[in-house]
Amino acid sequence: MTITINGIPCVCKKGEFLLQVARRNGIEIPTLCHHDAIAGQGCCRLCIVEVVERGRGKIVVSCVYPVEHECEVFTDSEKVRRQRGMILRLLEKRAPESPEIKALCEKYHAPEIDRFVKVDGGKCVLCGLCVKACAELSVGAISTVNRGVTKEIATPYHEPSSVCVGCGSCASVCPTGAIEITETADTRTIWGKTFQLVHCERCGKVIGTREELAYASKKSGHEPDALCADCRREVMADVMARTYGAE
Ligand code: SF4
Repeated sequence: MTITINGIPCVCKKGEFLLQVARRNGIEIPTLCHHDAIAGQGCCRLCIVEVVERGRGKIVVSCVYPVEHECEVFTDSEKVRRQRGMILRLLEKRAPESPEIKALCEKYHAPEIDRFVKVDGGKCVLCGLCVKACAELSVGAISTVNRGVTKEIATPYHEPSSVCVGCGSCASVCPTGAIEITETADTRTIWGKTFQLVHCERCGKVIGTREELAYASKKSGHEPDALCADCRREVMADVMARTYGAE
């Protein structure tokens, strides 16, 4: 079927999420909690758009809105701009130290709104992407704790987690840089725990923490990696060349 987004015809399949269709067609929609590798969240609501079907318009969250009928979509209508501005200012009150949110407020001309009360002093917007990323690895070392204004993402009892493997996936998916991760040549510290880094035996590049490699090895049933992905590929290519080149 074909829908139009900002007047541009876009071919899509029934059931595809609007955000996906827009991005495939080069149409920009801002997001914070969306990550291509992690199933739709619809949590930050920054990706709202206006959908007009049979002459009636409604605001929807595009990352979790499946296209069911032919429709017209507007990513920057008056209604979208107004609501997106409010959402951004709310996110800013929750995470006033986040440069990413400040930049979005400026980019999308979010109006100042005095009645919103600041609820936190950090960078986290509680989108939950980090929790999902960790759960998808089946580690589940972090979760949302507390409620209301004291809600936050943490390890159990704020103690260094016994199950965290220090992979850093949570920090790498965080859209606001809220998870502190520090590295030296040989160590990585995250969630209050320091891990030893393992280096590729061939080129010396970091391939992960000792715990992360042990965990991956246990899951796959293979020996822990000693080489990085690039060196593994090169070694494999050498072996193939020697095997088949000799024939
Ligand atoms: S660093 Fe720890 S908490 Fe973060 S995704 Fe990896 S295992 Fe989970």
